[in-house]
Amino acid sequence: MGKDNKKAKHDGKAKKHETKIKDGNKFVYFFGGGNAEGNANMKELLGGKGANLAEMVNIGLPVPAGFTITTELCTYYYDNDRTYPKSLYKEVKDALHKVEKEMGAKFGDSENPLLVSVRSGARASMPGMMDTVLNLGLNDITIQGLIKHTGNPRFAYDSYRRFVAMYGDVVLGLKPEGKDDIDPFEEILEKKKHTRGVTFDVELTVEDLKELVAEFKVAIKERLNMDFPEDPEEQLWGAVGAVFGSWQNNRANIYRRLNHIPDWWGTAVNVQAMVFGNMSEDSGTGVAFTRDPAAGTNMFYGEFLMNAQGEDVVAGTRTPMTIDKLADIDPSSLNQLLKIREILEQHYHDMQDIEFTIQKGKLYMLQCRSGKRTALAAMKIAVDMVNEGLIKPKEALMRIEPDQLNQLLRPIFDLKEKAKALKAGHQLAKGLNAGPGAACGKVVFNAEDAEAWAARGEKVILVRIETSPEDIGGMNVAEGILTARGGMTSHAALVARQMGKVCVAGCGELQIDYKTREFRVDKKDFVVKEGDFISIDGSTGEVILGQIPTKPSEVIQVLLEKTLDAKDAPTYLIYKEIMDWADKYRRLNVRTNADQPDQSANAVAFGAEGIGLCRTEHMFFGEGKIGPMREMILADTLEERKTALAKLLPLQRADFEGIFLAMDGRPVTIRTIDPPLHEFLPHDSAGQKEIAEMLGISAKKVKERVEALHEFNPMLGFRGCRLGIYYPEITEMQARAVFEAAVLVKKANKEVFPEIMIPLVGNVKELKLQEEIVRRVAKEVMAESGIEFPYLCGTMIEIPRGAITAGEIAEVAEFFSFGTNDLTQTTLGVSRDDAGKFLPMYVAKEIYARDPFEAIDQEGVGFLMKHAVKQGRKTNKHLKIGICGEHGGEPSSVEFCHTLGMNYVSCSPFRVPIARLAAARAAIREERAKKAEKKAKK
Ligand code: PEP
Ligand code: MG
Repeated sequence: MGKDNKKAKHDGKAKKHETKIKDGNKFVYFFGGGNAEGNANMKELLGGKGANLAEMVNIGLPVPAGFTITTELCTYYYDNDRTYPKSLYKEVKDALHKVEKEMGAKFGDSENPLLVSVRSGARASMPGMMDTVLNLGLNDITIQGLIKHTGNPRFAYDSYRRFVAMYGDVVLGLKPEGKDDIDPFEEILEKKKHTRGVTFDVELTVEDLKELVAEFKVAIKERLNMDFPEDPEEQLWGAVGAVFGSWQNNRANIYRRLNHIPDWWGTAVNVQAMVFGNMSEDSGTGVAFTRDPAAGTNMFYGEFLMNAQGEDVVAGTRTPMTIDKLADIDPSSLNQLLKIREILEQHYHDMQDIEFTIQKGKLYMLQCRSGKRTALAAMKIAVDMVNEGLIKPKEALMRIEPDQLNQLLRPIFDLKEKAKALKAGHQLAKGLNAGPGAACGKVVFNAEDAEAWAARGEKVILVRIETSPEDIGGMNVAEGILTARGGMTSHAALVARQMGKVCVAGCGELQIDYKTREFRVDKKDFVVKEGDFISIDGSTGEVILGQIPTKPSEVIQVLLEKTLDAKDAPTYLIYKEIMDWADKYRRLNVRTNADQPDQSANAVAFGAEGIGLCRTEHMFFGEGKIGPMREMILADTLEERKTALAKLLPLQRADFEGIFLAMDGRPVTIRTIDPPLHEFLPHDSAGQKEIAEMLGISAKKVKERVEALHEFNPMLGFRGCRLGIYYPEITEMQARAVFEAAVLVKKANKEVFPEIMIPLVGNVKELKLQEEIVRRVAKEVMAESGIEFPYLCGTMIEIPRGAITAGEIAEVAEFFSFGTNDLTQTTLGVSRDDAGKFLPMYVAKEIYARDPFEAIDQEGVGFLMKHAVKQGRKTNKHLKIGICGEHGGEPSSVEFCHTLGMNYVSCSPFRVPIARLAAARAAIREERAKKAEKKAKK
């Protein structure tokens, strides 16, 4: 039945607010000239970008004037067949006038035209997923004004050709047709460069650029059968519509699904006066982080390009310079940026990601937001900021998403093997260390192939000249991403970091040929073809031919393998500090699901405080045990069954002893046998023949027995406590093995605390029957050995009747453990083993916000849990309550368990740190909510 459902994630349980969005609402918020109508707290309405632009204006930073059209308008737009309320037109007009006044330029003017950018901006950052249009307002008339005003025809035409291409692509929809095709505008540009015999865009003359504008317009006319709109107002509304429309494009939809961003949030649209980084040699543009987003180091970390527009840096079409080089080119702007870095960190108390433009030596801020960072950077920054007095430990914990811890536990290359590969001359190239970690896989050259190969189980490295947001699906399934162009802040780098993917970016030595599906390396003989293995080191930027074995992370080496001293492991020390804080604030205990001594020891190293689920049936598959187990199942009489069980007893006892010793006195919940018996028997004739020989019975008899055990719906069949009720001698043997092991441990002067757990109880009488056996055997073993030991007897709550009648059950049970895997399947009536076929579609359609087998379905399954906790505690106020379904290591579910006032969660060993952090965050969030409530009452 494949019962180990090892999925996990968090719940996207957000509610759409139902207030009617009406014509006449305020939809437009102006910012500029030291005064903004919005502020940083208005992210829901203005989106992250709009709210922060307003905030930057409010704290006196230099920001070009503009206005934000709210996310509510986006909702209105989709609720009303993609139309706008009438009042919007006047609001936009008024705001545009204010921008004109502030910037001293006029939209559509032939003398000094105002040009604007039109950008998206949702509540949560969705880097590059939606559309942007720059230089809007240019046409054959305003271009003359721009030339007059700037005295720079080259710049003017450069802006114009960029605008026509961008508008043609984003608003009019002239895009590459197939996956191997290049952008149609890019194709024309490349042709032009080729005929002029130049390599770079900047080498094109004014005349060339002018021709490009005309050729672009012809391409639009020919391919789309429409004229390029010359009216700036028409351009503006076209762009606003395209940005709102891009909220529903394919990549934005995928991104939202991956990041659990609800559909109804919508995006805002920001219209802002253009400033130009491509106006002159003393103009430029850049992006920066107030700290290093990969390693978290406290240094200003950025990249810029002179004489370029922002898109050049982010899209990775030119490889930018590091920010320190700005000291030689424009020291005054660098100094100003350093001051702004300080102001922003003091103001936001967090690492910020900024975009800036220098126009003829004057610095402008175009964006700031909380910067995306690797798990390592998130932790280092949080710990450093506590030490710098910027934030308190509780805030530090709230800054780290529990799932990010996964990245710290991921493998790194085996350094010896890597050294060997390097010595053998297998290094192909070196790029930027954009997303740390080690990855190895087969080369594929486009996202579609990456998805197809990964779907058939291949590990792939996605190799691209540069990535674009379209590649998101392929990036998601790839082990790692390698790009030839682009810096640390390129799309590939940003998205990879956020996904926790290994990424090497800007590897300029690679010559990638999409058509022949191969890449070469400058001055080297290597040709790497699609399907060849490469290894990439996202921590150093190295690209290596072949497969290099990976090795456990620093945290694993210190904690589990004990091959590294903590003091030599800086990453581990940061991890430890965070975990220590988490333990200080959490109220939930964290246990683990383990059924082997080594798993138990690992879990303890990760901080497990006990075992919440030991699935004894897993032990039956161990060395020497499957034989007697099968003998027991195939037995015809009680006597035969007892003989087989007697063989199993010492083996189980030894298992439990090992686990008790590993857990060193911590509570250990042992579940009596649960799965349907047919799972232990072979279904093929060769296997059945083998058993028959071993047991000295006929193969026919084995076959008959297997057939007799066949069930139409085994998950709702002869399993769980039903087995122990039908064959009490099995429960008796298991209880004896547990208690005799406890005696052995006690005899060795060690503490032990077993908890026997009965599965699949729906009726208190089922539990009672099993409990009587457990208590009788405990008494017998104590009497036989003369040794007393503590123990509990409790039950799983994993079918609805058990939850509904929890009050009665708690009169017998000393503890409850929610088996949310079964409770989900039985509450939803959805088979946990067959749901894979349709549940992803259910999630895509938002029938469930999250896969209910990953994150607890709080309205349904959660409702039963809440009831069971309440009723259980009513009749037994000492009732201990935990969870041992896979949800026990999923952050939103852990938080839910906290809010129900449960005692512990139990999860797989590697998720124990995640659960510890999630539990602390739940406690902190609760405390904050209480404080806020108190304040509101006052
Ligand atoms: C459960 O149902 O949640 C559970 C922990 O038990 P199993 O997965 O073994 O059925
Ligand atoms: Mg179960």
